[in-house]
Amino acid sequence: MSTSPHVKDCAHFRAEGLRIGGERIRTDRSLDVLNPFTGERVGTVAMASLAHVRRAMDIAHAYQSTLSRYERSAILNRAAALLRERTAEASDLITRESGLSKKDSVYEIGRVADVLGFGATEALRDDGQVFSCDLTPHGKRRKVLTTREPLLGVITAITPFNHPMNQVAHKVVPAVATNNRMVLKPSEKVPLSALYFADLLYEAGLPPEMLQVVTGDPREIADELLTHPHVDLITFTGGVSIGKYIAHKAGYRRIVLELGGNDPLIVMDDADLDKASDLAVQGSYKNSGQRCTAVKRMLVHEAVRARFTELVVEKTRAWRFGDPMDSGTDMGCVIDEAAARHFERVVDEAVAQGARLLVGNRREGALYSPTVLDQVRPEMTVVREETFGPVSPIIGFRDIDEAIAISNGTAFGLSSGLCTNRMDDITRFAKELKVGTVNLWEVPGYRIELTPFGGIKDSGLGYKEGVQEAMKSFTNCKTFTMPW
Ligand code: NAD
Repeated sequence: MSTSPHVKDCAHFRAEGLRIGGERIRTDRSLDVLNPFTGERVGTVAMASLAHVRRAMDIAHAYQSTLSRYERSAILNRAAALLRERTAEASDLITRESGLSKKDSVYEIGRVADVLGFGATEALRDDGQVFSCDLTPHGKRRKVLTTREPLLGVITAITPFNHPMNQVAHKVVPAVATNNRMVLKPSEKVPLSALYFADLLYEAGLPPEMLQVVTGDPREIADELLTHPHVDLITFTGGVSIGKYIAHKAGYRRIVLELGGNDPLIVMDDADLDKASDLAVQGSYKNSGQRCTAVKRMLVHEAVRARFTELVVEKTRAWRFGDPMDSGTDMGCVIDEAAARHFERVVDEAVAQGARLLVGNRREGALYSPTVLDQVRPEMTVVREETFGPVSPIIGFRDIDEAIAISNGTAFGLSSGLCTNRMDDITRFAKELKVGTVNLWEVPGYRIELTPFGGIKDSGLGYKEGVQEAMKSFTNCKTFTMPW
């Protein structure tokens, strides 16, 4: 799996091993990690075999953590402090392996530190409940107490490329906070940030049996990670097709799926268009448009569509894209050239079907310019499917019924953003949009790391993430009753 000899290694080259049972294990085969902007090799990671996966599972299964709430909280707090100190180094690594701009990667480090901080706080909180039993005529003088226990088996976590460290943090931190054991397989496109994060936790005192990391070719090791008898729960973030494959494979196991999105930003005719267009461009281009909750469709009332479009085009032209390492760059490149070519193709197809290209659709390698399309119809591929990049199709509607119908008219149901001040419309959208989140005067991606997050329909099974919800899904609730 090594690249041709003319590929140069970058100055900060890292040759990484698996993290199994506290050891760094090199294997005879490795996987190249390339910088999508420069083409340089950022590092290599070991390719795990089935035997490595099985060993990690056995070690995890045999280990029973005795860490107290205080100890887990202290580990997570220490890791947060270490990460904050190393923001420059950690964000450089994210930028090098993903092509995300430094603005985006520094922001991501802040989010990861938040996840750690919330995990540390939540680890201290006992969310057990107490019920009295003498509540009905046939009640008894007893009480019911509930407690949450870690799973009996192992958690498999599989993460996508788009937030190389934060997607990992959202799986690992709740597992640590609840005393579970996790085997993580990060995206093969960005495995270095995941290994960096694991090392940070070990340095902060995490027993290595509680988190092991295997890297490699998913075609070889994914099935073992899904079906190994020690696995009790699979938590996956990524695309719909793999998510559904996992649902099919998982059998008698809990699964948490956070899948794709096709989120609208809905702009009504009373909206402050300056504010709405700011949200539109930020929501479309931050993280190079590679967020499950990026604005993938701008639904705009016909009465204000012309002016809103002008503003979006103007702000898109001002969005600085280019060298991800340059601190003045707003947007770096996308994950690889193949992804950029795919955006070019779907935009060309939309234009051939009658959409109007207002700005963008320029590509150089993996660098794809912010792109605005007008006169887009809901049935075009660019809006019907998830376009995981900086493309903003504008779709007009005449009234709220049509806005809701278009919004609900895809297979996805992740999040949404809403720009209006009319209370009657707001309540209708809040009730009728078939999504996991409705954000009023914010981008669909707005959240804090603690709160419930996740979608319905093809975006997920309704099981939420966010530190608090993930801790619930990673635990078994036990009830204990006693005389009182
Ligand atoms: P992807 O589905 O291609 O890959 C995700 C992970 O699945 C990777 O680690 C990959 O190695 C692994 N994988 C590949 N084949 C597998 C198999 N057969 N079994 C199990 N795992 C396998 O996704 P991606 O391209 O890395 O990320 C982009 C997608 O992720 C987008 O669709 C995006 O919307 C989605 N996403 C969703 C959320 C959310 O919270 N809902 C967040 C971020 C990204």
